[in-house]
Amino acid sequence: MEHFYTIQGEGFYQGKAAYFVRLGGCDVGCTWCDVKESWLAEKHPLWQVDEIVSEVGNSGAKICVITGGEPLMYNLAELTVKLQANKIRTHVETSGAYPLSGNWDWICVSPKRFKLPLDECLKAANELKAIVFHRNDLRFAEENAAKTNETCKLFLQPEWSVEKEMLPIIIDYVKQNQQWEISLQVHKYMNIP
Ligand code: SF4
Repeated sequence: MEHFYTIQGEGFYQGKAAYFVRLGGCDVGCTWCDVKESWLAEKHPLWQVDEIVSEVGNSGAKICVITGGEPLMYNLAELTVKLQANKIRTHVETSGAYPLSGNWDWICVSPKRFKLPLDECLKAANELKAIVFHRNDLRFAEENAAKTNETCKLFLQPEWSVEKEMLPIIIDYVKQNQQWEISLQVHKYMNIP
């Protein structure tokens, strides 16, 4: 759908330069999705894996974040193997609703109520990023965190359109549940993609 070199705005790698490759196609259907234009894969051009790898390589980026849409609707083995062969770290941002494919240096699972994550994705996650749109999402976050491995980093991130309302609730929660950290979408403050 689109690709660009920018700064990772969220989660554990927040603030690091990273090349984003956004794959078209998603059937998860989050009501508050901010990239609804990604949902229909056929609206976006097809790219050869080698073309993507060379765009990322030419940028000089050391990290490539594969996002979507829901990137795991596709088998990502060839893309990730070729990126790693070019000494580029492979990071994925997924809802976890599809089986894992690909070789990953970092797996960020952001579980969604609309299509639940698979246990295999939660187990493999290096980072769980739970979006908080409503107070009840904290319970959903805990249910998913219980299925992650013990080294998984846990983040609560207010959904952008309700950030002002949710942030005080999240701050309180993190003070009482210190295994969690707060993730903010800092790229939106910087006005970058
Ligand atoms: S999983 Fe991501 S791309 Fe898909 S609907 Fe939800 S927020 Fe949008």
